[in-house]
Amino acid sequence: MSDGDGGEAAFGKASVRDAPVEGRRVLVRVDFNVPLEDGGVADDTRIRAAIPTIELLRERGAAVILASHLGRPKDREPELSLRPVADRLGELIGAEVKLAPGLVGDDVTALTEGLEPGEVLLLENSRYEPGETKNDAELAERLAGLADVYVNDAFGAAHRAHATTEGVARHLPAYAGLLLEREVLELSAVRDDPSRPLVVVLGGAKVSDKVGVLERFIDVADEILVGGAMCFVFFRAQGHETGASLVEEEGIELARRVLDAAEGSRCELRLPTDLVLGEEFDARTETRELDGVDVPDGWMGLDVGPETATAYAEVIAGAGTVLWNGPMGAFELGPFAAGTRAVAEAVAAAPGRTVVGGGDSVAALEEFGLADRIDWVSTGGGASLELLEGKALPGIEALRDAEGVKA
Ligand code: ADP
Ligand code: MG
Repeated sequence: MSDGDGGEAAFGKASVRDAPVEGRRVLVRVDFNVPLEDGGVADDTRIRAAIPTIELLRERGAAVILASHLGRPKDREPELSLRPVADRLGELIGAEVKLAPGLVGDDVTALTEGLEPGEVLLLENSRYEPGETKNDAELAERLAGLADVYVNDAFGAAHRAHATTEGVARHLPAYAGLLLEREVLELSAVRDDPSRPLVVVLGGAKVSDKVGVLERFIDVADEILVGGAMCFVFFRAQGHETGASLVEEEGIELARRVLDAAEGSRCELRLPTDLVLGEEFDARTETRELDGVDVPDGWMGLDVGPETATAYAEVIAGAGTVLWNGPMGAFELGPFAAGTRAVAEAVAAAPGRTVVGGGDSVAALEEFGLADRIDWVSTGGGASLELLEGKALPGIEALRDAEGVKA
């Protein structure tokens, strides 16, 4: 398996560990897209995940310039300023973190030019700039003008070709950060060389985003366990009644394809055999258990039932590798959390290698106090799925190849 030095060849991109940074200005794209609450950072997991790269650069005498997006601002919405993130990062590293007034501009340039080795400057929300998501060439060039070296440590944004994740890398020597590198190694190990049996647990609500992963893993996994709103496209494809359940219509055809593919493969695709129903998507709604999967009119399936949860937990316990993405039900509503909790506990207790991705799945693990019992908790939702599907991620493709790079 690929831990430590052996894995780098498999990755193939130049590492920040080999970047010449002493006395230089290094622009680091981080993923500080954190949840906010009452003007502060509600969960600093993503900030903490970026610290090893930031500290490595400071220790090696680099001046560190950080860039990140936060949310989806339409213009310069002050509620989406990175101010609280700068403050939190400062507390975590025990050093001042200045916040620049923008992503680029004369005042930003002046701030970057005044940076001493070891100092840290955070640029303001990259999506305040309309050119960011358009991967505007001029913006990328201006960004590159702020630094001598570029490091991408924002795995969670690596599937996007934006100015801070892709465009800028064309203008500077570009290296992979420690977190991005570790994410790629952990996830590609599951994709390419899993200990068997490989069990993939897929749920959540973003069905069409995730069906591609199913199509890929039908050929690779030993068992696929489906839960969450994901199961209803399958039930519709099989001709079951789904009542008022959340069904992503465009996913039904894809589900049919996956069912056909599963038919002819050695992979076992499992769907729930019982459900917990509610009348509304609300914690105080009427609830009932359904032994079966034909959802009556006026009801919606909001969790897998206890029989399904027990069966899934048993499969997980016997796995060599477990890959979990997407909650089994509407776990944020108390009456519909049991299925997700059972799966989370089974994954935490599993003797096999366990990898979990997806913002809500990770939030569920945190809520149940189980996150530290998972072998690898990915900071990337969409990015982790695209990597697992075998797609090339633009933010990674744009980095230097490892070949020939020396410290
Ligand atoms: P992740 O963030 O882990 O990738 P998703 O974003 O795809 O997961 O889905 C998480 C959301 O799915 C949760 O908000 C949860 O309420 C919702 N969900 C799960 N099961 C159901 C269901 N049966 N009906 C409606 N929503 C569901
Ligand atoms: Mg989500």
